[in-house]
Amino acid sequence: MTEQLSLFNIADAAKEAVADRATRLAEVAARARECARCRLRAGCRGVVFGEGNPEAKLMFVGEGPGRTEDELGRPFVGAAGQLLDRIIEAIGLKREQVYIGNVVKCRPPDNRLPLPDEAKACLPWLEGQIAIIDPAIIVCLGALATQTLVSPEARITRWRGQWYERNGRLIMPTFHPAALLRDPTKKRPVWEDMKLVRAKLWELESANKGGG
Ligand code: URA
Repeated sequence: MTEQLSLFNIADAAKEAVADRATRLAEVAARARECARCRLRAGCRGVVFGEGNPEAKLMFVGEGPGRTEDELGRPFVGAAGQLLDRIIEAIGLKREQVYIGNVVKCRPPDNRLPLPDEAKACLPWLEGQIAIIDPAIIVCLGALATQTLVSPEARITRWRGQWYERNGRLIMPTFHPAALLRDPTKKRPVWEDMKLVRAKLWELESANKGGG
């Protein structure tokens, strides 16, 4: 009985921890929706904050919302998003198990690349998401995310497929799914990168189970 009770307590504590992260994320999202730190907010329908498991071990960071994302208020739900869903499934996960966000939360006009000052202005929101979710691994989708989270010097073609560590977190840069849609020869390297991610997730999970 005592043992059962303590197991229930652990389950309750775990549920509270998830609720706590979800609440904190919702608070940050509400503040982000009021944001006017750069010119992008004036030209889009709304802030696309991000979505997924607040407890995710794995987080994906893209560039910024496109037209469909802006319309639906959700990240990666257009053509690139469908490909991202397949990439996530290919490593044995579901979209709901990971967290998906972007460097900028507002759609740049005509889907242009976010400008450096826009990425900089939006960084506190991304940093807030990362701090709350506390993922063990971040996959940077494309150059902008890699330059934002790893190094401004990053070149995606050269830097992808290797682990980088920032603030105790592992970061794997890979090609953006939109780049794969334009150039299918990039599918193979992305699959190689994702196999490294899958292996690292397994390694971290078994270290956790073993108490290591
Ligand atoms: N491309 C991105 O980088 N992010 C999205 O949310 C959609 C497309």
